[in-house]
Amino acid sequence: MSLQDELYKETILDHYHCPRNHGVISGATLKQEGTNPLCGDELTLYIKLNNDTIEDIKIEAKGCSISMASSSMMTEAIIGQKIKNAQIIAHNFKDMMLNKGNDYVFNETNEDLNSLNGVKKYPVRIKCALLAWNTLLQSLEKDEAKAQGE
Ligand code: ZN
Repeated sequence: MSLQDELYKETILDHYHCPRNHGVISGATLKQEGTNPLCGDELTLYIKLNNDTIEDIKIEAKGCSISMASSSMMTEAIIGQKIKNAQIIAHNFKDMMLNKGNDYVFNETNEDLNSLNGVKKYPVRIKCALLAWNTLLQSLEKDEAKAQGE
């Protein structure tokens, strides 16, 4: 294993053992469940919006190390962000995980996310890494649909 792979593995395990923003938000603006039946990963996402800013986010998750680590990193990356920025980060993450050729690389602010790039070597685990992000995008889309209907 290369030094870089070792560091990435450590980052993933750190988020797995100490998940950031773990828990429930009572009175959350948005609540969304996500599952990855292939692996048995499950999570519930809670978001508190302040206008178009994600003021708080928490996740209750159980599953494999990849899904748990990715959930934790996702909350760190998007807390305090405008909805639009959160969506851009989520799409960049999906590009990184799904584009085999042209890799997206995150800058220092979100560099932990790059540690999940190696998961691409194990195609069945890509869904584990994407679960939290797809759940986030779903919940934000629902919020947009609601806003447009009003
Ligand atoms: Zn999994």
